[in-house]
Amino acid sequence: MSENKIGVALVHEICPICSKSMNEQILMNSVLNKKYAKEIENVHGKAIGYSKTACEDCSKYKDEAVMCIAIDEAKSEPNNPYRTGQVVGIRKDFQLFVDKPEFIIKTENGVPYCFVEENVGKQIGFFK
Ligand SMILES: [Zn+2]
Repeated sequence: MSENKIGVALVHEICPICSKSMNEQILMNSVLNKKYAKEIENVHGKAIGYSKTACEDCSKYKDEAVMCIAIDEAKSEPNNPYRTGQVVGIRKDFQLFVDKPEFIIKTENGVPYCFVEENVGKQIGFFK
């Protein structure tokens, strides 16, 4: 049995656009207690949530493109869109974005993105 009163875990956040892991960080309990230490150790290697900023790869095209994330509406919950895995960058001057700028969300580092229902995206040629 572990007698450790200090738990240490390496955790990460995920990019809100491509879901790649980023912002690795070390967690440690501040209260010396075996229970807390165990809880910390249990999250080792896990994602602790979405980052408020996009990863480096997704930030590369922020001036030219809106990153479109394919979702399955049937499997989505109100605050938790179900991602099917496809992400494509579409030029900012695409008519839909000009007409409906309210669809576009921005990360804290200024990367524009939006969620697009996969079947709708296929019809307008965003997704395969
Ligand atoms: Zn990313």
